[in-house]
Formats: sequence, C-alpha cells, structure tokens
Amino acid sequence: AVEVHDVHKWYGTHRVLNGIDLTVRPGEVTVIIGPSGSGKSTLLRVVNHLEKPEIGYVSVNGELIGLRRQGDRLKELSERAILTQRSRIGFVFQNFNLFPHLTVLDNVAAAPVATGKLGKAAAQELARELLERVGLADKATAYPRQLSGGQQQRVAIARALALRPGIILFDEPTSALDPELVGEVLAVIRDLARSGTTLVIVTHEIGFAREIADRVVFIDGGKIVEQGPPAEVLDKPQHERTRDFLSKVL
Ligand code: ATP
Ligand code: MG
Repeated sequence: AVEVHDVHKWYGTHRVLNGIDLTVRPGEVTVIIGPSGSGKSTLLRVVNHLEKPEIGYVSVNGELIGLRRQGDRLKELSERAILTQRSRIGFVFQNFNLFPHLTVLDNVAAAPVATGKLGKAAAQELARELLERVGLADKATAYPRQLSGGQQQRVAIARALALRPGIILFDEPTSALDPELVGEVLAVIRDLARSGTTLVIVTHEIGFAREIADRVVFIDGGKIVEQGPPAEVLDKPQHERTRDFLSKVL
C-alpha cells in the first residue's frame, strides 16, 4: 500500500498541502478531484519525491520514500536511492513529456536500459509488447512530433509501464487533448485498472471517475475534504465545498 502520512508542503508563506493522510491499497484505483490550485499535482509530486514535504512522509509497502530513519530523525536519502525508488512509481504527465529526439520504441525502451534492468534487445522486445498493448504497434519507428496528442499520451503510458511499476500516478492525463482524443487514452487507463494495476489519477473527467474509481478523494485548500466510493462522494457529497465543485465541473 501507498501511505501518505500527515503531509504538509509550503512554498515560503504559501501553504499548499495542509496535513494530507491517504492510503492507496494494492490494485485500487483512486481518483483525486478538486479545484485548480488545491494541491493535486503537488500531492502526486510528493508521492514520488519530486517534491519534499516539510512535514510528514510517504511510504510504499512500508518503505519510506526519499527519507531514511536515523535514530528518531528522518534524513534525506541519496539522490541515487531516490531515483531507484522513483523507478518503481510510474508517472504520466498532462503534457506527455516524451523525448522528442527518440523514436516511439526508444522512448518506451529507454528507462529499463538506463536503469540497468534490461539489455537493449530485451528492452526493445518489451517496448514492442507494451506498444501493442496501447494500440500503437505500427508507430514504433515514428517520432513523437509525428503523433497525435492521444497517441503521444498512450506512448507515455507504455513508457511508464516499461519499468513495471507497482503503482502509476496520472496527472490530468487527458486535459491537454482535443476532445475526440480523450476516449482512446481513457480506454488504455481503463484496461490498466481492469488488470489490477494500482492507479492514482488526478482528473476532471467526473464520468470516468464514477466508472473506474474504487475511491474518489476531493481536495480543497490542500486538505482532503471528503473521500469514499464514487457513489458517495460524487452522487451524495456531504460537504458544501464538494457540492459546489461538482456543480461547476459536471
Ligand atoms: P490544477 O488543477 O490547476 O493543476 P493543482 O490542484 O494541481 O491545480 P498544484 O499545482 O498542486 O495545484 O498547486 C497548488 C498551489 O501551489 C498553487 O497555488 C501553485 O501556485 C502553488 N505552487 C505549486 N508549485 C509551486 C512552486 N514550485 N513554487 C511556488 N508555488 C507553487
Ligand atoms: Mg495540477
């Protein structure tokens, strides 16, 4: 399980996360919703230690992320150890972040080679399998700029899968896409959810959240206002702020 324990994050006097506690169980799909600026991206970035919390910590299967205990204090892990931990946590960004100078196949094969997990031939074989899985086997030799946004995002998902992560974090994976391309990306994420991959997804696609989430978490002002099954949070919200937010996005 991923456990977020009393996480606080601030920039100067600007408090962005104000005591987040969250547990994500293996195989669960957690969808995070909330207004712009509420801290959703920051929370995902704390989970894989792209941001360091001022207070609190994240653990994955009992292992602290980015930190180690020394006596009763927490110390920062080495950069190298953090990179190893991060390689077990997939991250899919809003803007795909593919390597523009690499082919689709090499984008997907790059990380297993760079981390020494696989040799080049094995990584390319795995990349072909993953491209097949996201419906892009025929694009292996193309470059990112030759693909549509939806195709690029599916490559980004294949790339995240290449390190066989225990969990994949998605930060608004469809919000940069033209509307007609959203469906193909959601279909790939739906397939991952069905296969039992642990997913945490920040999205404004409320219909999709209702369909695939085991749990919906509503964040406002850097705090979890409410969380629960979609049938509760989305259809019978208990808090005024949740109702207000849903009335704007639905
Ligand atoms: P959106 O829905 O617009 O993506 P969000 O919920 O993902 O919003 P965050 O990106 O987590 O929000 O940002 C939360 C707050 O933290 C915002 O007010 C943002 O301006 C601020 N913030 C984020 N990163 C930094 C940073 N590196 N330095 C200063 N402030 C930051
Ligand atoms: Mg964001």
